[in-house]
Amino acid sequence: MKNCFLTLLFITGLSVPVWAQTQNNPESNHGNKFEQLGTIIQDPNMYRSASGAPGPRYWQQRADYEIDVALDDEKQRITGSETVTYYNNSPDPLTYIWLQLDENEHNPKSDNQKFDESSMKDKMSIADVQAIMGHNQDLGVKIQKLTDGSGKALKYTINQTMLRIELPKTLKPGERFKFKVNWNYTISDRMTIGGRGGYEYFAEDGNYLYTIAQWYPRLAVYSDFQGWQNKQFTGRGEFALTFGNFKVNITVPADHVVGATGECQNYSKILTPAQYKRWNQAKSATSPIEIVTLAEVKQTMKSKSQKQKTWTYVASNVRDFAFVSSRRIVWDAMGTNVEGKKVMAMSYYGPEAYPLYNRYSTKVVAHTLKSYSKHSIAYPYPVAISVEAANGMEYPMICFNYGRAEKDGTYSEATKYGMIGVIIHEVGHNFFPMIVNSDERQWTWMDEGLNTFLQYLAEQEWDNNYPSQRGPAHKIADYMRLPKDQLEPIMTNSENIVRFGPNAYAKPATALNILRETVMGRELFDYAFKQYARRWAFKHPTPADFFRTMEDASAVDLDWFWRGWFYGIDPVDIAISNVKYYRLDTKNPEVENLEAKVTREKTEYNIGRERNRQEGTKFAVEQDTSLQDFYNKWDRFAVTPASRSAFNEFYAGLTPEEKALYDSKTNFYEVEFTNLGGLVMPLILEWTYADGSKETERISAYIWRKNEQKITKVFAKAKEVKSLRLDPYRETGDIEENNNAWPAEYTPSKFELFKQKTTPRGSSTGPNPMQQNSQKPTQNQVGQ
Ligand SMILES: [Zn+2]
Repeated sequence: MKNCFLTLLFITGLSVPVWAQTQNNPESNHGNKFEQLGTIIQDPNMYRSASGAPGPRYWQQRADYEIDVALDDEKQRITGSETVTYYNNSPDPLTYIWLQLDENEHNPKSDNQKFDESSMKDKMSIADVQAIMGHNQDLGVKIQKLTDGSGKALKYTINQTMLRIELPKTLKPGERFKFKVNWNYTISDRMTIGGRGGYEYFAEDGNYLYTIAQWYPRLAVYSDFQGWQNKQFTGRGEFALTFGNFKVNITVPADHVVGATGECQNYSKILTPAQYKRWNQAKSATSPIEIVTLAEVKQTMKSKSQKQKTWTYVASNVRDFAFVSSRRIVWDAMGTNVEGKKVMAMSYYGPEAYPLYNRYSTKVVAHTLKSYSKHSIAYPYPVAISVEAANGMEYPMICFNYGRAEKDGTYSEATKYGMIGVIIHEVGHNFFPMIVNSDERQWTWMDEGLNTFLQYLAEQEWDNNYPSQRGPAHKIADYMRLPKDQLEPIMTNSENIVRFGPNAYAKPATALNILRETVMGRELFDYAFKQYARRWAFKHPTPADFFRTMEDASAVDLDWFWRGWFYGIDPVDIAISNVKYYRLDTKNPEVENLEAKVTREKTEYNIGRERNRQEGTKFAVEQDTSLQDFYNKWDRFAVTPASRSAFNEFYAGLTPEEKALYDSKTNFYEVEFTNLGGLVMPLILEWTYADGSKETERISAYIWRKNEQKITKVFAKAKEVKSLRLDPYRETGDIEENNNAWPAEYTPSKFELFKQKTTPRGSSTGPNPMQQNSQKPTQNQVGQ
């Protein structure tokens, strides 16, 4: 999802920071940041190989669903019945299984209704007050019936958002179990109490927009690495789900338009003949075709049908199913070719979003599928849908985004780019985690971070001037320089992250961008990243699988990078702390004597001598010249024939190699770098020479491995150096750039000049309504 809708902060529960446990040699200046990850990541085994690929005995569970669901537009209720077939592909016999009941996050009895900190403020919104008082609505899932395949009741227990079914007999490896659930719930008002699914009510026309998500009892993941993933749903950490096939019949008012995960099986019966014709035209269209037009929607919105229609959808190998339903939806579509396969890119939006969505949405969907397919795996599903719902949340083949125009059809630049960004982001989630199915409830970065990284690439491929907010290295600096009690490692459970957006989206996206552009290079990075996507498509990867694959496929040891960026909270702040300049002693008296003279004049200078001369002191040796001898006239720096011939002899005695070095007149610069931030990074140096030319030099982060705090390095340069700059392209996320230059550079700051007013003690400085009231209104103020 797009995190900007989450405003609640969660308390961190970590008492011993993860990074403290990862110190290998804490008393020393080295042996910490470059130690291999071995001890802090999970061991490889038969299910997960040391290469980062699925192991020879890799397994995963499967759940197939047949669901009938009815939407009640009068009472805003969902009523469903499902038949689930669960396949135990694990080597373990199972005596119970766990289902997720995410809608119970709104049940007043759930812990998450009360476990956030709160405090009173001078100004509080209605939402702020409601968050404290709670809602008194009868929300949450009602299980009406739960039986096995033959209709025999099953024992079950509900623990908040999780439901445990006790199996009538042990489900052995290789066996399957069929069960049926009937349930219903009151749909919540997503705009006031929040939630992933819900309704939005449009008072101006009395219609509802339903975005139905996380709505049916669905199988939690049972895995080789943690057994059941049955951590409670709190509204924050998203989900971990099992792949399977779906057949879903959705019954809604006859004048609603439905969009859903999968392919609709009965458009020919549901749509009007004209709409069905447009649907077929859209398949080969080169720009989006409106299947349900704005004119049709405006007509439909005027009345409410009392009839019902059932839309039938089928989806294969998906981890979830969501849908949208409303009578105020324009629907457009365009067949798009993605890596040789036809995909229907589609959009659903209300009249208020028409100016933006009609122009952009479906084309952004198509662009996203192509960009992500190039950087990860080819998009495997037949459709991809973007729905305007003043939201940002993703499901397989369908996602809910934002972007509404003003009443006059205009919109701001921020709305436009925010919309394009959110569509790329949510459509992009099809790849991570809908296909590369990591555990979102545990690790937010594995889907949000990887997805935000690919979002950045897609944005930059959309427009070279795209104002991307997450991805460029220098944009993470503000977050990284925060006090450490506001930070936690990327490797932190979703629930315990204080600043969710920067931690789980921007920092991992930035880290991957730095890996690609600076540490590994595009070629090595792209190959390894695609390898990860290919290996784990339609499977359940863990962080170790990602870390290992990136190294295994590239021959780049990245343990220091994972340690610094993913397990630590140190920022990057490397300073050029000293530069020393050395040249070869020429031994040539013509050169050296002159220099020695200048040096002596400098070192022997003293203020007393200067003032004595200025005052016209009569020096004894001048008043009485008989006091002067040889030494008063001797020039100690004069070049003598003896010194000249000694030099000639020295030069003639040099070997050809020595002569070449001597003649090169090389300049040597010993540069000291101090690691003030803690995070080790490569050194990127820009040398500017006295003749104005420039040279960029790159040194691997390994230079820090024997001293993580301070290092010196000598550089030999044929030309004399005028200045040196560290990280000239701003690619490391350095939080303090003022110490990156030699000689030091100063950026001027501005200050404002104002007229000081002195006010008598006790007089008020704020506005004075009494005084303002007594003034006669000017012409302009009348009638305002
Ligand atoms: Zn997201």
